[in-house]
Amino acid sequence: MQNAVVPSLLPVYKRVDLAFERGEGVWLVATDGRRFLDFGSGIAVNGLGHSHPHLVKTLQDQAAKLWHVSNIYQIPELERLADRLVGASFAETVFACNSGAEAMEACIKVARRFHFANGRPERNRIVTFEGAFHGRTMATISAAGSPRLTEGFAPLLDGFDHVPFGDLDALKAVIGEHTAAIMLEPIQGEGGIRPAPAGYLQEIRALCDEHGLLLIYDEVQCGIGRTGRLFGYESLGAPAPDVMGIAKGLGGGFPVGACLMTGRAASGMTASTHGSTFGGNPLASAVANAVLDVVLAPGFFDQVVVLGDRLAAGLEALAARHPQVIEEVRGRGLIRGLKVKPVNAEFAAKGREHGLLTVPAAENVVRLLPPLTITPEEIDQGLEMLDRTCAGFAP
Ligand SMILES: *Cc1c(COP(=O)(O)O)cnc(C)c1O
Repeated sequence: MQNAVVPSLLPVYKRVDLAFERGEGVWLVATDGRRFLDFGSGIAVNGLGHSHPHLVKTLQDQAAKLWHVSNIYQIPELERLADRLVGASFAETVFACNSGAEAMEACIKVARRFHFANGRPERNRIVTFEGAFHGRTMATISAAGSPRLTEGFAPLLDGFDHVPFGDLDALKAVIGEHTAAIMLEPIQGEGGIRPAPAGYLQEIRALCDEHGLLLIYDEVQCGIGRTGRLFGYESLGAPAPDVMGIAKGLGGGFPVGACLMTGRAASGMTASTHGSTFGGNPLASAVANAVLDVVLAPGFFDQVVVLGDRLAAGLEALAARHPQVIEEVRGRGLIRGLKVKPVNAEFAAKGREHGLLTVPAAENVVRLLPPLTITPEEIDQGLEMLDRTCAGFAP
């Protein structure tokens, strides 16, 4: 058999022909010198922008001291991170990992193990939602279930029951004696910036309590201040979950994730039931602590709300001015989506011509995820670039 011609880099990404040399706050500088306003933030990762001085200094200081030790030892930086996450959330205990998918894997394992430890091992199925995205591991693609993620990867992991997002009756109908948990993104990200409908999460919380199920939120994309609250569900006025995965914004660009849970939900997670070689190592924990230093400072979230309102008002004005291009404005705070009429990837490409980076999502949505440290003037600049982008699609 002839060898297929394959690039040295596995071509699983359809990459834009653009490479960057450095980042300065909300701006990315390409290798050819062009400057781009970054309304993607590495897909909700660089929440504090690029080269944030506090993150750079923390990383440099920690790098000179200690990068990694095994989790068989005490890790003070990790303990501090866990204490702070517990102090700022519903959670009573935290497991650290390296990515969003791993955080959601931990959530799934926690839920199954909870029922096992409580003498109900048959409760091992998790209800998940159409349009969801939880990562690219076997469990997380099985959880999300869409053919786009799972095709060719069978056999999938059993134990997930998929229902339409927002449909309470379908959810009630699928809950049975094997159900362990309900797992969802309070605001679907890859699915097209779809916040849970008003009251939906309250109803889901009530169903969980009624049937003895754990409620799991995937806050990997909408968490860490993006909505103007530490967690996206808080911005929806929704009740707390029992278990929650976070990642992306937690490290501001350094790979780190975490699974947060109540003490009750954690009851099955005894010594040796789960682990991670790199999870929460001193370098990752130091950087995540530095991110928390910034986002948990008094007034930070209030500022995100003000910035998010400014962006939303500007987007609504744009939608009114360009009804032939923008169909709908979605989202909260600084996680916004434009449902556009042209192909979203083409919209994003035209945006780049005007110096703006955005990220396509499902439902033909263009995601706007600027760093939380953006200034009002930079938001206005982004809106002007979007205005020019829309004008480029005029009939
Ligand atoms: C990005 C994302 C994940 C997966 O995170 P990785 O770090 O890529 O594994 C999971 N859930 C949601 C909601 C995400 O947006």
